[in-house]
Amino acid sequence: MAKCFRSTAANDAAVIRAAVLKSTDSPLTIENIELPPPAAGEVHVRLAAAGVCHSDLSLANGTLSQPVPAVLGHEASGTVIAVGAGVINVRPGNHVLLNWSPSCGTCWFCTHGEPYLCEQTAKAWQRRYARLADGTALYAGLGTAAFGEETIVPSSAVVALPADVNLEGAALLGCAMLTGVGAVINSADVQRGESVVVFGTGGVGLSVLQGARLVGAEVVIGVDVAADKEDRARANGATDFMLAGDQAARGIRDRTEGRGADHAFDCVGSATTIRQAWSSTRRGGRTTVVGIGEKDEKVEFNPQEIFYFGRVLCGCVFGSTDVSRDLPRLLEHVQSGRIRPQDLVTNRIRLEDAPDALARMAVGKGARSLIIY
Ligand SMILES: [Zn+2]
Ligand SMILES: [Zn+2]
Repeated sequence: MAKCFRSTAANDAAVIRAAVLKSTDSPLTIENIELPPPAAGEVHVRLAAAGVCHSDLSLANGTLSQPVPAVLGHEASGTVIAVGAGVINVRPGNHVLLNWSPSCGTCWFCTHGEPYLCEQTAKAWQRRYARLADGTALYAGLGTAAFGEETIVPSSAVVALPADVNLEGAALLGCAMLTGVGAVINSADVQRGESVVVFGTGGVGLSVLQGARLVGAEVVIGVDVAADKEDRARANGATDFMLAGDQAARGIRDRTEGRGADHAFDCVGSATTIRQAWSSTRRGGRTTVVGIGEKDEKVEFNPQEIFYFGRVLCGCVFGSTDVSRDLPRLLEHVQSGRIRPQDLVTNRIRLEDAPDALARMAVGKGARSLIIY
Protein backbone atom coordinates (compact mmCIF):
# COMPACT_ATOMS: atom_id res chain seq x y z
CA MET A 1 0.00 0.00 0.00
CA ALA A 2 2.79 2.40 0.93
CA LYS A 3 4.01 2.50 -2.65
CA CYS A 4 0.70 4.01 -3.72
CA PHE A 5 1.60 7.26 -2.01
CA ARG A 6 4.24 9.56 -3.32
CA SER A 7 5.51 13.01 -2.57
CA THR A 8 3.58 15.79 -4.29
CA ALA A 9 6.12 18.48 -3.55
CA ALA A 10 6.24 21.25 -6.14
CA ASN A 11 8.17 20.37 -9.33
CA ASP A 12 8.29 16.70 -8.34
CA ALA A 13 7.06 15.50 -11.74
CA ALA A 14 6.31 11.81 -12.17
CA VAL A 15 7.92 10.24 -15.24
CA ILE A 16 5.73 7.54 -16.74
CA ARG A 17 5.28 5.71 -20.04
CA ALA A 18 2.37 6.61 -22.31
CA ALA A 19 1.18 5.93 -25.86
CA VAL A 20 1.41 9.33 -27.57
CA LEU A 21 -0.46 10.53 -30.68
CA LYS A 22 2.06 13.02 -32.09
CA SER A 23 0.10 13.95 -35.21
CA THR A 24 -3.31 13.08 -36.61
CA ASP A 25 -3.46 9.71 -38.37
CA SER A 26 0.03 8.63 -37.30
CA PRO A 27 0.71 5.48 -35.23
CA LEU A 28 0.87 5.93 -31.44
CA THR A 29 4.41 5.88 -30.07
CA ILE A 30 5.45 4.83 -26.58
CA GLU A 31 7.20 7.73 -24.82
CA ASN A 32 8.37 8.74 -21.37
CA ILE A 33 6.26 11.72 -20.34
CA GLU A 34 6.24 13.99 -17.28
CA LEU A 35 3.17 14.46 -15.10
CA PRO A 36 3.20 17.48 -12.78
CA PRO A 37 1.77 16.98 -9.28
CA PRO A 38 -2.03 17.36 -9.14
CA ALA A 39 -3.14 21.00 -8.88
CA ALA A 40 -6.09 22.10 -6.76
CA GLY A 41 -9.16 20.08 -7.73
CA GLU A 42 -7.14 17.42 -9.57
CA VAL A 43 -6.54 13.74 -8.93
CA HIS A 44 -3.45 11.65 -9.74
CA VAL A 45 -4.42 8.09 -10.73
CA ARG A 46 -2.33 4.98 -11.37
CA LEU A 47 -4.17 3.08 -14.11
CA ALA A 48 -5.02 -0.60 -13.66
CA ALA A 49 -6.61 -1.25 -17.05
CA ALA A 50 -7.80 0.69 -20.09
CA GLY A 51 -10.04 -0.45 -22.94
CA VAL A 52 -9.27 0.60 -26.50
CA CYS A 53 -12.52 2.15 -27.75
CA HIS A 54 -13.58 2.94 -31.29
CA SER A 55 -13.68 6.63 -30.34
CA ASP A 56 -9.92 6.44 -29.68
CA LEU A 57 -9.50 5.34 -33.30
CA SER A 58 -11.80 8.17 -34.48
CA LEU A 59 -9.77 10.72 -32.47
CA ALA A 60 -6.48 9.28 -33.75
CA ASN A 61 -7.44 9.27 -37.43
CA GLY A 62 -9.13 12.67 -37.42
CA THR A 63 -12.77 11.54 -37.77
CA LEU A 64 -13.27 13.31 -34.43
CA SER A 65 -11.20 16.41 -33.72
CA GLN A 66 -8.30 16.03 -31.30
CA PRO A 67 -5.55 18.60 -30.65
CA VAL A 68 -2.08 17.02 -30.70
CA PRO A 69 0.24 15.84 -29.32
CA ALA A 70 -2.11 13.89 -27.08
CA VAL A 71 -2.48 10.79 -24.96
CA LEU A 72 -5.78 9.08 -25.80
CA GLY A 73 -7.67 6.49 -23.71
CA HIS A 74 -10.91 7.16 -21.84
CA GLU A 75 -12.28 3.79 -20.67
CA ALA A 76 -10.24 2.98 -17.60
CA SER A 77 -9.97 2.15 -13.94
CA GLY A 78 -7.22 2.67 -11.42
CA THR A 79 -6.13 3.66 -7.94
CA VAL A 80 -5.77 7.20 -6.61
CA ILE A 81 -2.14 8.04 -5.83
CA ALA A 82 -2.58 11.64 -4.67
CA VAL A 83 -5.13 14.44 -4.70
CA GLY A 84 -4.80 18.21 -5.02
CA ALA A 85 -6.23 20.74 -2.60
CA GLY A 86 -9.99 20.77 -2.21
CA VAL A 87 -10.70 17.29 -3.60
CA ILE A 88 -13.33 15.58 -1.46
CA ASN A 89 -14.90 12.87 -3.64
CA VAL A 90 -11.89 10.51 -3.55
CA ARG A 91 -8.72 10.02 -1.54
CA PRO A 92 -5.40 8.19 -2.01
CA GLY A 93 -5.88 4.42 -2.15
CA ASN A 94 -9.44 4.61 -3.55
CA HIS A 95 -10.30 2.51 -6.56
CA VAL A 96 -11.79 4.73 -9.26
CA LEU A 97 -13.38 4.69 -12.69
CA LEU A 98 -12.41 7.49 -15.06
CA ASN A 99 -15.38 9.49 -16.38
CA TRP A 100 -14.77 11.07 -19.79
CA SER A 101 -18.20 12.72 -19.70
CA PRO A 102 -18.21 14.79 -16.52
CA SER A 103 -21.33 16.93 -16.15
CA CYS A 104 -21.41 20.37 -14.51
CA GLY A 105 -24.69 19.90 -12.65
CA THR A 106 -25.83 23.45 -13.32
CA CYS A 107 -26.40 23.97 -17.08
CA TRP A 108 -29.85 23.65 -18.71
CA PHE A 109 -29.25 20.01 -19.72
CA CYS A 110 -27.87 18.94 -16.33
CA THR A 111 -30.84 20.52 -14.54
CA HIS A 112 -33.30 18.89 -16.95
CA GLY A 113 -32.18 15.29 -16.45
CA GLU A 114 -29.86 15.10 -19.46
CA PRO A 115 -26.33 15.30 -17.98
CA TYR A 116 -24.95 13.30 -20.94
CA LEU A 117 -25.63 16.44 -23.05
CA CYS A 118 -23.94 18.80 -20.57
CA GLU A 119 -22.79 22.06 -22.19
CA GLN A 120 -19.49 21.98 -20.28
CA THR A 121 -18.30 18.45 -21.10
CA ALA A 122 -16.48 19.33 -24.32
CA LYS A 123 -14.35 21.89 -22.45
CA ALA A 124 -12.92 19.04 -20.36
CA TRP A 125 -11.56 17.53 -23.60
CA GLN A 126 -9.35 20.53 -24.41
CA ARG A 127 -7.03 20.13 -21.44
CA ARG A 128 -3.22 20.03 -21.43
CA TYR A 129 -2.15 17.77 -18.59
CA ALA A 130 1.47 16.63 -19.05
CA ARG A 131 4.56 17.21 -21.16
CA LEU A 132 6.97 15.31 -23.37
CA ALA A 133 10.63 15.08 -22.32
CA ASP A 134 11.39 18.13 -24.51
CA GLY A 135 8.78 20.19 -22.66
CA THR A 136 6.02 20.06 -25.34
CA ALA A 137 2.61 20.19 -23.67
CA LEU A 138 0.40 17.11 -24.11
CA TYR A 139 -3.38 17.11 -24.41
CA ALA A 140 -5.47 14.60 -22.49
CA GLY A 141 -7.68 12.73 -24.97
CA LEU A 142 -11.35 13.17 -23.88
CA GLY A 143 -9.89 14.74 -20.75
CA THR A 144 -8.69 11.45 -19.28
CA ALA A 145 -5.50 10.25 -21.07
CA ALA A 146 -5.74 6.62 -19.98
CA PHE A 147 -3.15 5.23 -22.43
CA GLY A 148 -0.42 5.88 -19.87
CA GLU A 149 0.68 4.22 -16.65
CA GLU A 150 -0.65 7.20 -14.67
CA THR A 151 -2.80 10.25 -15.37
CA ILE A 152 -3.93 13.53 -13.84
CA VAL A 153 -7.65 14.38 -14.14
CA PRO A 154 -10.10 16.86 -12.63
CA SER A 155 -11.93 15.39 -9.65
CA SER A 156 -15.14 15.50 -11.72
CA ALA A 157 -13.57 12.91 -14.04
CA VAL A 158 -13.19 10.19 -11.39
CA VAL A 159 -15.88 8.15 -9.67
CA ALA A 160 -15.04 6.05 -6.61
CA LEU A 161 -15.57 2.29 -7.01
CA PRO A 162 -16.23 -0.25 -4.26
CA ALA A 163 -12.96 -1.56 -2.78
CA ASP A 164 -13.76 -5.15 -3.79
CA VAL A 165 -14.54 -4.47 -7.45
CA ASN A 166 -12.45 -6.21 -10.12
CA LEU A 167 -10.58 -3.26 -11.62
CA GLU A 168 -9.88 -4.93 -14.97
CA GLY A 169 -13.55 -5.58 -15.67
CA ALA A 170 -14.59 -2.25 -14.18
CA ALA A 171 -12.51 -0.36 -16.76
CA LEU A 172 -14.95 -1.43 -19.49
CA LEU A 173 -17.89 0.07 -17.63
CA GLY A 174 -16.46 3.55 -18.28
CA CYS A 175 -17.44 3.74 -21.93
CA ALA A 176 -18.60 0.53 -23.68
CA MET A 177 -20.90 -0.79 -20.99
CA LEU A 178 -22.45 2.45 -19.73
CA THR A 179 -23.04 3.32 -23.41
CA GLY A 180 -24.37 -0.05 -24.56
CA VAL A 181 -26.49 -0.97 -21.56
CA GLY A 182 -27.62 2.65 -21.25
CA ALA A 183 -28.71 2.66 -24.91
CA VAL A 184 -30.98 -0.31 -24.18
CA ILE A 185 -32.40 0.88 -20.85
CA ASN A 186 -32.28 4.69 -20.96
CA SER A 187 -32.46 5.60 -24.63
CA ALA A 188 -34.58 2.86 -26.21
CA ASP A 189 -36.40 1.60 -23.08
CA VAL A 190 -36.46 -1.98 -24.41
CA GLN A 191 -39.08 -4.11 -22.67
CA ARG A 192 -39.14 -7.79 -21.72
CA GLY A 193 -40.27 -9.95 -24.65
CA GLU A 194 -39.40 -7.41 -27.36
CA SER A 195 -37.20 -8.10 -30.37
CA VAL A 196 -33.85 -6.39 -30.82
CA VAL A 197 -31.36 -6.30 -33.68
CA VAL A 198 -27.84 -4.96 -33.21
CA PHE A 199 -25.71 -3.85 -36.18
CA GLY A 200 -22.00 -4.13 -35.38
CA THR A 201 -20.77 -6.48 -32.65
CA GLY A 202 -17.64 -4.68 -31.44
CA GLY A 203 -17.26 -3.61 -27.81
CA VAL A 204 -20.33 -1.35 -27.70
CA GLY A 205 -22.44 -3.73 -29.83
CA LEU A 206 -21.66 -6.58 -27.43
CA SER A 207 -22.64 -4.32 -24.53
CA VAL A 208 -25.98 -3.63 -26.25
CA LEU A 209 -26.47 -7.40 -26.61
CA GLN A 210 -25.78 -7.84 -22.88
CA GLY A 211 -28.23 -5.02 -22.11
CA ALA A 212 -30.91 -6.67 -24.26
CA ARG A 213 -30.36 -9.98 -22.45
CA LEU A 214 -30.50 -8.18 -19.09
CA VAL A 215 -33.92 -6.65 -19.73
CA GLY A 216 -35.34 -9.91 -21.10
CA ALA A 217 -35.63 -9.19 -24.82
CA GLU A 218 -36.86 -12.40 -26.45
CA VAL A 219 -35.27 -12.26 -29.89
CA VAL A 220 -31.81 -10.66 -29.90
CA ILE A 221 -30.14 -10.64 -33.31
CA GLY A 222 -26.49 -9.70 -33.79
CA VAL A 223 -25.52 -8.56 -37.31
CA ASP A 224 -21.92 -8.14 -38.43
CA VAL A 225 -19.84 -8.32 -41.60
CA ALA A 226 -17.49 -10.89 -40.03
CA ALA A 227 -18.68 -14.49 -39.61
CA ASP A 228 -16.06 -15.13 -36.92
CA LYS A 229 -17.90 -12.75 -34.57
CA GLU A 230 -20.81 -15.15 -34.12
CA ASP A 231 -19.60 -17.10 -31.08
CA ARG A 232 -18.77 -13.98 -29.10
CA ALA A 233 -22.06 -12.32 -30.05
CA ARG A 234 -23.96 -15.36 -28.79
CA ALA A 235 -21.87 -15.46 -25.58
CA ASN A 236 -22.91 -11.83 -24.96
CA GLY A 237 -26.63 -12.42 -25.38
CA ALA A 238 -27.47 -12.83 -29.08
CA THR A 239 -30.09 -15.51 -29.70
CA ASP A 240 -29.39 -15.26 -33.43
CA PHE A 241 -26.49 -14.10 -35.58
CA MET A 242 -26.68 -12.94 -39.20
CA LEU A 243 -24.14 -11.69 -41.71
CA ALA A 244 -24.84 -8.14 -42.91
CA GLY A 245 -26.59 -7.81 -46.26
CA ASP A 246 -29.86 -8.69 -47.98
CA GLN A 247 -30.00 -12.05 -46.27
CA ALA A 248 -29.95 -10.37 -42.86
CA ALA A 249 -32.94 -8.22 -43.83
CA ARG A 250 -34.88 -11.37 -44.78
CA GLY A 251 -33.67 -13.24 -41.71
CA ILE A 252 -34.78 -10.45 -39.38
CA ARG A 253 -38.28 -10.45 -40.89
CA ASP A 254 -38.45 -14.25 -40.62
CA ARG A 255 -37.60 -14.08 -36.91
CA THR A 256 -40.22 -11.38 -36.22
CA GLU A 257 -43.31 -12.86 -37.91
CA GLY A 258 -42.68 -10.76 -41.01
CA ARG A 259 -42.98 -7.41 -39.18
CA GLY A 260 -39.40 -6.40 -38.47
CA ALA A 261 -37.78 -5.85 -35.07
CA ASP A 262 -39.22 -3.69 -32.29
CA HIS A 263 -35.77 -2.15 -31.83
CA ALA A 264 -32.65 -1.74 -33.92
CA PHE A 265 -29.33 -0.42 -32.63
CA ASP A 266 -26.71 0.88 -35.03
CA CYS A 267 -23.31 0.49 -33.36
CA VAL A 268 -21.34 1.23 -36.54
CA GLY A 269 -22.37 4.77 -37.41
CA SER A 270 -22.24 4.44 -41.20
CA ALA A 271 -24.96 5.68 -43.55
CA THR A 272 -25.40 2.10 -44.78
CA THR A 273 -25.91 0.50 -41.38
CA ILE A 274 -28.16 3.32 -40.12
CA ARG A 275 -30.36 2.84 -43.17
CA GLN A 276 -30.33 -0.98 -42.74
CA ALA A 277 -31.14 -0.66 -39.05
CA TRP A 278 -34.08 1.64 -39.75
CA SER A 279 -35.40 -0.66 -42.47
CA SER A 280 -35.09 -3.71 -40.22
CA THR A 281 -37.60 -2.37 -37.69
CA ARG A 282 -41.35 -2.93 -37.81
CA ARG A 283 -43.88 -0.16 -38.45
CA GLY A 284 -43.68 1.98 -35.32
CA GLY A 285 -40.29 0.46 -34.41
CA ARG A 286 -37.36 2.37 -33.02
CA THR A 287 -33.77 2.74 -34.24
CA THR A 288 -31.15 3.98 -31.80
CA VAL A 289 -27.92 5.24 -33.35
CA VAL A 290 -25.07 4.54 -30.92
CA GLY A 291 -22.08 4.52 -33.29
CA ILE A 292 -20.30 7.76 -34.19
CA GLY A 293 -20.18 8.32 -37.93
CA GLU A 294 -18.59 10.78 -40.32
CA LYS A 295 -19.71 14.34 -41.09
CA ASP A 296 -19.82 13.97 -44.86
CA GLU A 297 -21.98 10.85 -45.25
CA LYS A 298 -25.70 11.16 -45.96
CA VAL A 299 -28.52 8.83 -44.95
CA GLU A 300 -31.51 8.94 -47.31
CA PHE A 301 -35.20 8.48 -46.52
CA ASN A 302 -38.12 9.33 -48.74
CA PRO A 303 -40.94 11.40 -47.21
CA GLN A 304 -43.60 8.77 -47.88
CA GLU A 305 -41.78 5.99 -46.05
CA ILE A 306 -41.20 8.27 -43.04
CA PHE A 307 -44.96 8.79 -42.85
CA TYR A 308 -46.05 5.24 -43.68
CA PHE A 309 -43.76 3.29 -41.34
CA GLY A 310 -44.23 5.61 -38.36
CA ARG A 311 -40.77 4.67 -37.12
CA VAL A 312 -38.54 6.50 -34.64
CA LEU A 313 -34.88 7.32 -35.41
CA CYS A 314 -32.99 8.50 -32.35
CA GLY A 315 -29.40 9.55 -31.64
CA CYS A 316 -27.85 8.30 -28.43
CA VAL A 317 -24.98 10.07 -26.65
CA PHE A 318 -23.13 7.95 -24.05
CA GLY A 319 -26.19 5.70 -23.55
CA SER A 320 -28.18 8.69 -22.19
CA THR A 321 -26.24 7.95 -19.02
CA ASP A 322 -26.45 9.72 -15.68
CA VAL A 323 -23.26 8.31 -14.18
CA SER A 324 -24.29 8.93 -10.56
CA ARG A 325 -27.55 7.04 -11.12
CA ASP A 326 -26.47 4.35 -13.59
CA LEU A 327 -23.00 3.28 -12.42
CA PRO A 328 -24.20 1.89 -9.05
CA ARG A 329 -26.94 -0.08 -10.85
CA LEU A 330 -24.46 -1.43 -13.38
CA LEU A 331 -22.06 -2.43 -10.60
CA GLU A 332 -24.88 -4.40 -8.93
CA HIS A 333 -25.50 -6.26 -12.18
CA VAL A 334 -21.78 -6.98 -12.48
CA GLN A 335 -21.66 -8.30 -8.91
CA SER A 336 -24.63 -10.59 -9.59
CA GLY A 337 -23.06 -11.84 -12.84
CA ARG A 338 -25.90 -10.62 -15.04
CA ILE A 339 -23.57 -8.15 -16.75
CA ARG A 340 -20.13 -9.52 -17.66
CA PRO A 341 -17.63 -6.89 -18.80
CA GLN A 342 -14.87 -9.46 -19.31
CA ASP A 343 -16.91 -11.10 -22.08
CA LEU A 344 -16.21 -8.08 -24.32
CA VAL A 345 -12.47 -8.66 -24.22
CA THR A 346 -10.84 -10.38 -27.20
CA ASN A 347 -7.28 -9.19 -26.53
CA ARG A 348 -5.56 -8.59 -23.19
CA ILE A 349 -2.57 -6.47 -24.10
CA ARG A 350 0.28 -4.32 -22.77
CA LEU A 351 0.64 -0.58 -23.33
CA GLU A 352 3.20 -1.29 -26.07
CA ASP A 353 0.49 -3.10 -28.04
CA ALA A 354 -1.92 -0.12 -28.11
CA PRO A 355 -0.88 0.89 -31.68
CA ASP A 356 -1.63 -2.65 -32.91
CA ALA A 357 -4.98 -2.60 -31.12
CA LEU A 358 -6.01 0.53 -33.05
CA ALA A 359 -4.83 -1.08 -36.29
CA ARG A 360 -6.94 -4.20 -35.56
CA MET A 361 -9.94 -2.04 -34.86
CA ALA A 362 -9.47 -0.12 -38.13
CA VAL A 363 -9.98 -3.37 -40.08
CA GLY A 364 -12.85 -4.57 -37.88
CA LYS A 365 -10.98 -7.41 -36.16
CA GLY A 366 -11.86 -8.51 -32.60
CA ALA A 367 -13.95 -6.68 -30.02
CA ARG A 368 -12.34 -5.02 -26.99
CA SER A 369 -8.60 -4.87 -26.49
CA LEU A 370 -7.88 -4.25 -22.82
CA ILE A 371 -4.54 -2.77 -21.76
CA ILE A 372 -3.41 -4.26 -18.44
CA TYR A 373 -0.95 -2.02 -16.61
ZN1 LIG B 1 -24.01 20.64 -17.38
ZN1 LIG C 1 -15.38 5.14 -25.74
